Amino acid sequence: MKPVVVIIGAGASGLMVADYLSDYEVDVCVYEQMPSAGRKILWAGKTGLNITHSEPMADFVGRYVPDDWLDAFLYRYDNAWLVAWLSALGVQTYTGSSGRVFPVEMKASPFLRAWLKRLLAHHVRFFYRHRCVAIDNNTLRLTATDKHGQNTTFDKTFDAIVLACGGGSYAKLGSTGTWQAWFANDELSPLYASNVGVVKAWSPFMNAYFGKALKRIAVWVDSPEQKSQGDIIISHYGMESGLIYKYNRQMRDDLARCGRICMMVDLLPDKHERDIEQILSQKKKSLNTLLQKAGLDKVKIALLRECTDKVDWTNHQMMAKYIKQLPVIFTDFRPIDEAISTGGGVKRSALTDGLQLKSNPNVFCCGEMLDFDAPTGGYLLTACFATGRVVGESVAQHLNLSLKHKDKS
Ligand SMILES: Cc1cc2nc3c(=O)[nH]c(=O)nc-3n(C[C@H](O)[C@H](O)[C@H](O)COP(=O)(O)OP(=O)(O)OC[C@H]3O[C@@H](n4cnc5c(N)ncnc54)[C@H](O)[C@@H]3O)c2cc1C
Repeated sequence: MKPVVVIIGAGASGLMVADYLSDYEVDVCVYEQMPSAGRKILWAGKTGLNITHSEPMADFVGRYVPDDWLDAFLYRYDNAWLVAWLSALGVQTYTGSSGRVFPVEMKASPFLRAWLKRLLAHHVRFFYRHRCVAIDNNTLRLTATDKHGQNTTFDKTFDAIVLACGGGSYAKLGSTGTWQAWFANDELSPLYASNVGVVKAWSPFMNAYFGKALKRIAVWVDSPEQKSQGDIIISHYGMESGLIYKYNRQMRDDLARCGRICMMVDLLPDKHERDIEQILSQKKKSLNTLLQKAGLDKVKIALLRECTDKVDWTNHQMMAKYIKQLPVIFTDFRPIDEAISTGGGVKRSALTDGLQLKSNPNVFCCGEMLDFDAPTGGYLLTACFATGRVVGESVAQHLNLSLKHKDKS
């Protein structure tokens, strides 16, 4: 009899464990509570599926917190490995001008389809609408829901258990975070929203600008030396965009320290304050005309007016200063369920170097449920794939599995 490995979760990390183990003499069973696999991958595909980043690995690994935990995994299964792995699956990629790597087709469905087809051909078995509700040693309690919504709960014992249950955001895609109940308190860091929008109560004047972009601005949170350029979307609740996500970590510290977040905005990063001041000092022209002349569009003018005191509007020196350093105050982050990812999760100290749970060696963990954080840019998926692969290796070693003979697979 072959050993049986169960993987809970058919997301990026769980499928990667299955992919690795499908080369071995082992029965691989994937239990997924949703009716189909890879729902978050498909959702991420709506914005092109940024699968990894092409920057040198020395910079790449520096994007993660904690700053050295994942290094060994990421160097073993790095951005170049991932691109080659996708190519072997028939998915060609291209690198954008920002260094981000995407499938040429800019969507996730062809990739996911090809991957599932290969896993099925390699005899990986999928059990959809099956939810894991408890773990006892190497036995799982599972609830199966049939197409009429009837639930059946049963216990099943496995040779190894892989938890690849995702983080705690976008619950509608399956990552509900209920797995936290299976761990002792000291094995977990509380989940928090990462790569998420920030909250600001706008005056009614801003309603006309919801959904509009502040283009080619520069922002920073702690120090102007950490300034970055990009675009930000103004929304009814505050602001959103990759540029906001990039500063989420510093914003979290700011919120904890001061009870609010102060982001500085340079509305015209290519212009010098002195030149702006000169334009604004011209007489007999309305403020709007002068601001436009200085290079601000309507959205930037609206934000400038919203975040400054009316008494300063006639002071061209002050206004030039604000254009270069506009403090925008936020009061909170959007709820965790809206976050692109969650930080926190199963702690490094609870796991071995092979991501095996110290308190129960039958259990292995991978993907976003691990206690790491990273910005958007392909870093999240790369970490899920790398940790999935590493868990595959650890399970193979733990069960002393032998490779399949090629002609049998
Ligand atoms: C809108 C959006 C866009 C994104 N875009 C990108 C991007 O472009 N690039 C990037 O790198 N990252 C992106 N991400 C993040 C990335 O998609 C995730 O980090 C990654 O998919 C997480 O993979 P995972 O395998 O850890 O978890 P998931 O993909 O969440 O999979 C976990 C699976 O486990 C199942 N599960 C959970 N609990 C149970 C249970 N008890 N029983 C049975 N099944 C269970 C869930 O149903 C789910 O299918 C994006 C995320 C979102 C929300």
